[in-house]
Amino acid sequence: MGELSALFSPERIAVVGATERAGSVGRAIMENLLDSFAGEVVPVNPSHEEVFGIPTLDDVAAADADLAVVVVPPQIAVDVVREAGEAGVRNVVVITAGFGETGSEGAAREQDLIEVAETYDIDLVGPNSLGIMSTPVGMNATFGPENATEGRMSFMSQSGAFITAVLDWANDQGIGFKDVVSLGNKAVLDESDFVREWGDDDDTDVIIGYLEGIDDGQAFIETAREVTAETPVVLVKSGRTDAGAQAASSHTGTIAGSDQAYEAGLEQAGVIRAASVQELFDAARVLESQPLPEGDGVAVITNAGGPGVMSTDAIGDSRLSMASFTDSTLDAFSEALPAEGNIYNPVDIVGDADNERFRDALDVALGDANVGSVIVLSCPTAVLDYQQLAADTVELQAKHGKPVAACFMGGARVEPAAETLADAGIPNYFDPARAVQGLDALSRFRDITEREYQAPTTFDVDRERAREILASVEGRADTRLGVEAMGLLDAYGIETPAGDIVDAPADALEVAESIDGDVVMKIVSPDILHKSDIGGVKVGVPNEEVYDAYEDLISRARNYQPDATIIGVQVQEMVDLDDGVETIVGMNRDPQFGPLLLFGLGGIFVETLEDTTFRVAPVSEPEAEAMTREIDAAPLLRGARGREPADVAGVVETIQRLSQLVTDFPAILELDINPLVATPDGVEAVDVRLTVDPDQL
Ligand code: ADP
Ligand code: MG
Repeated sequence: MGELSALFSPERIAVVGATERAGSVGRAIMENLLDSFAGEVVPVNPSHEEVFGIPTLDDVAAADADLAVVVVPPQIAVDVVREAGEAGVRNVVVITAGFGETGSEGAAREQDLIEVAETYDIDLVGPNSLGIMSTPVGMNATFGPENATEGRMSFMSQSGAFITAVLDWANDQGIGFKDVVSLGNKAVLDESDFVREWGDDDDTDVIIGYLEGIDDGQAFIETAREVTAETPVVLVKSGRTDAGAQAASSHTGTIAGSDQAYEAGLEQAGVIRAASVQELFDAARVLESQPLPEGDGVAVITNAGGPGVMSTDAIGDSRLSMASFTDSTLDAFSEALPAEGNIYNPVDIVGDADNERFRDALDVALGDANVGSVIVLSCPTAVLDYQQLAADTVELQAKHGKPVAACFMGGARVEPAAETLADAGIPNYFDPARAVQGLDALSRFRDITEREYQAPTTFDVDRERAREILASVEGRADTRLGVEAMGLLDAYGIETPAGDIVDAPADALEVAESIDGDVVMKIVSPDILHKSDIGGVKVGVPNEEVYDAYEDLISRARNYQPDATIIGVQVQEMVDLDDGVETIVGMNRDPQFGPLLLFGLGGIFVETLEDTTFRVAPVSEPEAEAMTREIDAAPLLRGARGREPADVAGVVETIQRLSQLVTDFPAILELDINPLVATPDGVEAVDVRLTVDPDQL
């Protein structure tokens, strides 16, 4: 049991604001608690003598409760919590609404509530919460119409209404819960606290949740990363689309942040993100009841060819693969199956298969060392008894200890068999794709548990020089920097081509002459950050053209914006683009997760192609390495079509060095190295732009 165990296993609960008034929240809570709770319920309400036959107390201090559920009007709610705190109550659920979700007066009230909770060290749920449940002590301290049945999932939700809907449905599906929490406004306890709690709770096997926002992304990653090494966490995070994010922020007032940050942050936290409620429960149920597969090879045993192909497609779309059988398995299938069957995966045992043939085939497949998991796929036939097949499936699953998903297709005919399967923790789906998704979740979680977290590398850098370069924006209206800040990268050990910024053609020539071969010349101006757009980059300039190129760049800048501040012209060594790949490495600060690193295919096409991947900084070496593998263009880096592979290790190191830079300096609000050219010989950052907040230096 975790630190919040007292919240979920109280002996005496005070309901402050208890009443019998029809239709009131205070009544609903009382009724639910009296119906369910094994301990004592103490109504507190100075304007009633008794509630449901129980004498009331005038104030919470007299209740001697270890949990107070607060349903009083918002104007007095903070005072009530203070009284509870003074009386030593350490667990409080504030049902009352009218706080941060309702404008500035409410926000101030919520601030007061937070201070009171801090003063008295109160573990506080809410405000604006439906309440909490814990089935082992029979506690339903919510005002919802449904109670949870006992189970081993714990469930948190930022929407109280969603809880009532889920419970209604889950009770029907035979899905039970250990604890249920309506997070409300998360003034004190938030998702990280409950993930931590349930991670420590022996009675919780799977943590699930519906979230609209994560307040402190970095704290969440840190907590969840530890918990998910053992306990699966499956979350629906809504607001995936811009429109959805907008809706979420008007619903709860949370700034949703970018979905890329959530995608990256949840991945780094080891959380399995579900795209829908169905996916959430499909994943949660298999994770609760099925063993983890040792390998990703799936065997499909089917009496129907068509659905066998469907499942093969679904496996192709997933991280799983079709298992290739050992010779002895193939021999066994040849012997057991009729000539028109298929001994290869998907194994077609043919429509006339009876229970015995099905059973034998399953036994053989489950016994194959190349098989990590099995899908039992069947259509109703005259010779097949679904009940018997279900019983055999359960028995063989237990015998081999490998995960099994069932796809007994059909309607009413399937129901009793599906129940037998469900009792043994084997989910049955009509759709083979859902069966595959379930097994996929198991495989993902196995990988999560096997992850070895590495601390980010700390490189030896020149922090002071970096600080000075960033400080150059102090006192300026425009705090953006371009290639004049290349030294920043150099200070953090990120390779940049030789070169300099000059403000006279003669100096440009001098720099060009000091560099072997032709050079690149670029206009340097805080007003022109997309230099190519105005013809402000000249690639392959021979020494004899440096003068003209210089004049031309200046006049282009003047034509573009007559009053542009022009720092000068950068003369830079050419990087070999023929053998190189232009990549982008960047950072954007996310309101919830902080520095969000981006890696992708770079150059001037980056916006159109959107071949990018994200991670929350700081990243470790394996995380940076994973980024270089995740983009569509990854094969390009590794030498596709006879090209020499680029220096991927150099890219990985650059990502890590940038990660360190943006972690060291919160003053860097955003930064792009585009392109970082990766050649077989190394990497070069040929362009940079960033925005600085000098107040944070
Ligand atoms: P901007 O992004 O402001 O247009 P860049 O400095 O990124 O300016 O230059 C635009 C493009 O010019 C790069 O994507 C790259 O293709 C090419 N380029 C820039 N600098 C070099 C260089 N030193 N060597 C080779 N090509 C370069
Ligand atoms: Mg660029």
